[in-house]
Amino acid sequence: MGNIEVFNQDANFLITLFSLLLLLCACFYDSRKEKLFAPIWLLFTGLLIEFFANGVATKASDIYISGGTIGIYVFIELSLLLLAMIFMALAASHILINNSPNYWVFLGLSILGIICIALFVFIIPDGIMVNKMRQIFPLAGFAYLAVGFWVQSHQRHNSGYILSGVINTLVALLLLLRLFSVGISFSPNLWFVPAAYYTLLAFAFIMMKENVTSEELDKSIQEIEKYNRRIDEMIRLSPFPIIISRLSDDKILVANNNAQKLFGINPNELERYKLKDFFADSDNRQLLTDRLETQKEVQDFEVLVKTPLSNTPFWLLTSANIIDYNYDVALYSAFQDITSRKNREALLKNQAIRDPLTSLYNRRYFEKEVSKMILKLKAAKAPYSVLMIDADLFKRVNDTYGHKTGDKVLIELAATAERALRDHDIVARYGGEEFVIFLPGIDDSQAYKVADRLRESISSIVVYSDEKQPVRFTVSIGVSSSEISDNVDMLVKTADEALYKAKQNGRNRVEVFKLQDLNKFTTEDHENREEKQNIHPVFDKENSLEISLLDGIETSKIENDVPANIEQPQNGAKKK
Ligand code: GH3
Ligand code: MG
Ligand code: MG
Repeated sequence: MGNIEVFNQDANFLITLFSLLLLLCACFYDSRKEKLFAPIWLLFTGLLIEFFANGVATKASDIYISGGTIGIYVFIELSLLLLAMIFMALAASHILINNSPNYWVFLGLSILGIICIALFVFIIPDGIMVNKMRQIFPLAGFAYLAVGFWVQSHQRHNSGYILSGVINTLVALLLLLRLFSVGISFSPNLWFVPAAYYTLLAFAFIMMKENVTSEELDKSIQEIEKYNRRIDEMIRLSPFPIIISRLSDDKILVANNNAQKLFGINPNELERYKLKDFFADSDNRQLLTDRLETQKEVQDFEVLVKTPLSNTPFWLLTSANIIDYNYDVALYSAFQDITSRKNREALLKNQAIRDPLTSLYNRRYFEKEVSKMILKLKAAKAPYSVLMIDADLFKRVNDTYGHKTGDKVLIELAATAERALRDHDIVARYGGEEFVIFLPGIDDSQAYKVADRLRESISSIVVYSDEKQPVRFTVSIGVSSSEISDNVDMLVKTADEALYKAKQNGRNRVEVFKLQDLNKFTTEDHENREEKQNIHPVFDKENSLEISLLDGIETSKIENDVPANIEQPQNGAKKK
C-alpha cells in the first residue's frame, strides 16, 4: 500500500483505523485456537508496522513540502516497511509449515536489509532505489502471505484460507501493477484499499475459526458415536444383565440379552418399560436414587426386584453409575442374581435363633430379646411375666413309645403353646422338654390364668405313636413376674423354682413364685438342682455318655414317685 495520500483526509484515516481495530478483535477471537495463534499475531504485527510506516511517510511528505530534510524519515519508513515484510513472511512460513520458522535467518535478513537502506538513503542517496524499495517490500510481504494461504487452503477449514488467499493476491497484484506503471499515480483514489483489506481479513480469520469449530464438532460427534457403539458392544457381550435407562424419564434405552431374559423385557418394545417398574420396594428404589444423587455411582447395592415373569420378588445386586449415552444423561446398571445367597443368609440367620426340632426360638435368642423388652416395659411401667414349662414324666414317654414319639410330643406341645399365645409373646425351647414363655404386659395373677389355660389345653392333646397308640401328656408350669425381678436370669430361675414346686405338689399344675418366696430362695440350691434336670443325650451332645447313664437312675426314681392323678402312658406300650 504505502501511499502517502491515503492519510490526507481525517475521515479516511479514521475508517482505516477502525477497520484495523476490527482486525485486532478478529485476532483476539481467533487466537483462542492454538494452531492459529502465532501466524495471526505475526500477520497483525506486520500490518501494524506497515500502518506506522505509512504514518511516517505522511509526516515526511509534509516536511518535504515545507522544504525540510527528510533523510531520517525515509530511513525510518523503509526500515519499518522492511520489518513489516519480515513479519508477514514469518506469518506466511508459519501458515505453510505449521511450525516455527528459523527466526535467526529472518533477523539476519532484517539487519542486512537495514544496512542496505542506510546505504541508499545516507551514503549513496538514490531516489529511484528508495522508491523501488518502498514498493517492493510491501509487495513481497503480501505475495508471501498469498502463497502461504493458497497452499494451505486445501485444509478442511478452507473457506477462511481461500478468502485470505484471494485478498492477499489482489493486494499483491495491485502493488505489482503500481510497480510497473511508475509515474501513473492512481493512489489517491485507492485510499479504501487498506480498510477493505483489514475488514476482509478480519472476516477470513473469523471464518477460519468457525470452520475449525464446526470441524471439531463433526469430530466430536463421530467420537460420541464411536464411544456409543463401543458401549453397546460391551453391553451386548457382558455375562451380566445390563440396563441403560434415561435419567430424566426412567425409560429403558438398552437392555442386553441377559437383562431381557431376567426381567422379561420384549426387545421390540423397549421404550414401554421404565426401570422403576421393576423395583418391588419403593423405599429401596428411593435409597438408590438418593445415593446416586450424592455419589454419582453405587456399588453392590441390593435391590428387591419384581418382574412379570415371577410372582415373588427376588434379590439382585446392582452396580450403577450415571453416564452420557446418545446425548442423554443415563443410568447404567449391571445386575447379579443373589436370590440363592439371600435365601442362604436368611436360613443361617434362622438357624442361629431357632430350635431345629420345634422351630421355636432358642434359649439364647429368648434371653437377648427378653432383656431388650424388659428395658422398654420397665420404662413404660408395664408388668411382665415368665412361664417355665416342663413336660411331666417325659422320660417315661420316651421309654414307653420311643424317642420319635417323644419328639412328636415336643413338637405338638410347642405348636399348642405358640397357637395359644399372642404375637408379641415370646415362646422358646429352653432345653430338653422345657419351654419358656415371656408375656409382656401381663402381671403374675393374669399370668397364672394364662398358664393354667395353657396347661389345660396341653393336657387335651393326643399324639399317636408309630404303633398308632394314643399318647397323652401333661405339663407343670412355674410363673414368675416383674414383681420379683427385672433380670431375665433371675426371672427364669424363680419361674423354675415355682416349676419345681409344681412338680413336688403333684405335677400337671401351675405354681407362682411369690415375693415372700424370695427369702427362702437361694440361687445355689437352684443351680444344684438344675444340673440334674433337663439333660438329654441328643440335645446335650457334649455330655452324652454321662447323661445316658443318669437317664436310667432318674427313670427308676421318678417311677416310684408318680402321683396317682397323672394319667400314665400304658396300653401295651413297650417298656425298655
Ligand atoms: P418330671 O416330671 O420330673 O420333669 O419328669 P421327667 O421324666 O420329665 O424328668 P426329666 O426332666 O429328668 O427328663 C427329661 C427327659 O426328656 C430326659 C430326656 O430323655 C427327655 N428329652 C429331652 N429332650 C428331648 C428331645 O429332644 N426329644 C426326646 N424325645 N426326649 C427328650
Ligand atoms: Mg420333665
Ligand atoms: Mg425337665
